Amino acid sequence: MTASLIADLRRLVGEAAVIAPVEDRRWLADGTESAAVLGAAQAVVRPADADEVQRIVGYCLRHGVPLIPRGGGTGYAAGAVPFAEAIVLSLDRLRAVRSRHPETWSLAVEAGVTTAEVRRFAREDGLLFPPDPGAQEQSQIGGNVATNAGGPHCFKYGVTGRWVTAIEAVLGTGELVRVGSGLPKDVATLDLRALLVGSEGTLGVITAVWLRLMPEPAVRLPVLAVYPSAEQGASAVAQAMASGVVPAALEFLDRGAIAAARATYPGDLPDGAEFAVLAEADGTPAGAAAEQALIVELLRDGASSVVVADASTAAALWAWRDGVSLGVLARHGGKLSEDIVVPIDRLGEAVLGVRALGAEVGLETTSWGHAGDGNLHASFMFDRSDPVALARATEAAPRLFDLARSLGGSISGEHGVGRFKLEAARGLDPVTLGVQASIKRVFDPAGIMNPGAKIPL
Ligand SMILES: Cc1cc2nc3c(=O)[nH]c(=O)nc-3n(C[C@H](O)[C@H](O)[C@H](O)COP(=O)(O)OP(=O)(O)OC[C@H]3O[C@@H](n4cnc5c(N)ncnc54)[C@H](O)[C@@H]3O)c2cc1C
Repeated sequence: MTASLIADLRRLVGEAAVIAPVEDRRWLADGTESAAVLGAAQAVVRPADADEVQRIVGYCLRHGVPLIPRGGGTGYAAGAVPFAEAIVLSLDRLRAVRSRHPETWSLAVEAGVTTAEVRRFAREDGLLFPPDPGAQEQSQIGGNVATNAGGPHCFKYGVTGRWVTAIEAVLGTGELVRVGSGLPKDVATLDLRALLVGSEGTLGVITAVWLRLMPEPAVRLPVLAVYPSAEQGASAVAQAMASGVVPAALEFLDRGAIAAARATYPGDLPDGAEFAVLAEADGTPAGAAAEQALIVELLRDGASSVVVADASTAAALWAWRDGVSLGVLARHGGKLSEDIVVPIDRLGEAVLGVRALGAEVGLETTSWGHAGDGNLHASFMFDRSDPVALARATEAAPRLFDLARSLGGSISGEHGVGRFKLEAARGLDPVTLGVQASIKRVFDPAGIMNPGAKIPL
C-alpha cells in the first residue's frame, strides 16, 4: 500500500514535494511534544498551490486515505499529530499574498503565511491585525483560523475568527470553494465561513484567507501589578472588569509562572509575588494615558507594587510575557498545558483549584493566561525523562477539565480539542455532539479529514 501510495502522490505533485519515509520528528509532533506526544505517518505531502491541494484531497477521497492538514505545527492539542495510516498535508508552500488593500483595511493571503508575516504586512501599511497568539513566528494564518486562535489583545479586539471575512478551502468532498464574500457585512447565506473557523482540519483544508485589518493604535501603555495572593489579584481583575474600562489586554500570571519567568523580567519583580496582572491601555496618546491612569487606580487595590510602563518599555514587557510558556517548560524540561476557560468571576477559584490539584497528584503546577477572558493555561511541570511523572500528569489532565466544568467553564478556550482532548469532548451534550457529527458528514462524507480530532463520532 505505502509504495503505491507514495508513487501516486509523487505523480500528482512531483517527486520533491513528497517526503517518505517520514523520519524527521518535525512532521510528527506539535506543541504537545513537551508532554512526549509523537505520531507517525505514511508520507508528508507539500503542495505548491490550491490546485495541488485539491488533487491530493481527491486522491485521498478515492482511496480512503486519512489526511492531516498541518500548519506551523505549534498547536497544543495534537490536532496536527498524525497516525500511522495517515498522510500529512503541509501548507508551508502556500505563501502567496493574494491581495493587499490598505485603503480598505483588507489583506488576503494563502494559508502558509506565518502569523508574524501577516502582522508585519499590516504594520507596513500602518494597520493592525490584532490577534496575537504566542508562537507567531512559526504558526501559520491557516492554522490560526483552523484553531480560531486567541492571544493577549483578543480581550479587546476578539479572536482570529472575528477578523476573517472569507475562506478558500478544499472540502472533504474534494470541492474547492470560497465561503464568505470578503465584505464587511453579508447575510445572504448561512455562515459557512464560521463553520470552518475553529474546525481543526476536520471539514476541509484551508488554502487562503481574506482578513479585515484596523488602523494601528498610536501608543500602547502597559501596567504590571503584583499581588501577595491569588485572591487579591483575581479580585482586582474582577474590579477592573466591573468598572467598564476596556483594556487592550488583561493578562495574569500565578506564582509558578512568575517564578519561571522571573529571570527574564526586564526589571526587578518584588519577592513574594503570588500573582501578577499585566494590562494595557492603547489608542491616541492622550486617550491611552487617561485609560492607563484609570487602570492603575483599579489595579492598585491590594497590590504590593504597580509598575506603570511607558511606550518605550511596552515591547520589552510583552516580549517577557511571550516567553512565559518557554520559561515554564524550562523549569523541569517537560510540561502539560491545558487551556481551560471559566467565567471571569471564577478565575481566582480556578487558579487555586489548579494549585490544589497539583498538590494532590504531587506535581508542580502553575497557571497564566488571559484573565479578561477567564482563560487559564493550567500546566503541570515535570521532568520529561521521568515516565512516572509524565503518566501522573496525563492522568490528572481530565481532572482539570472537571474543574473547569464544575466552575461553569469549558475544556478549551483557544487551543482546541485535537486528538489530545477528544475523550473530554465526549462529555458535551448529546444534541451538540449529534449536530456536529451531521455537519462533519456533509463536509467530509468519507471521513478522511483529520479523523479522530475535534469531533467525537
Ligand atoms: C509557545 C506557544 C505559545 C502559544 N500561544 C498561543 C496563544 O496565545 N493563543 C492561542 O490560541 N494558541 C497559542 N498557541 C497554540 C498554537 O500556536 C495555535 O493553536 C496556532 O493557531 C496553531 O497554528 P499552527 O499553524 O501551528 O497549526 P498546527 O499546529 O499545524 O495545526 C493546528 C490544527 O489546525 C489544523 N490546521 C492547520 N493548518 C490548517 C489548514 N490550512 N487547513 C485546515 N486545517 C489546518 C491542524 O490539522 C490541527 O488540527 C501557542 C503555542 C506555542 C507553542
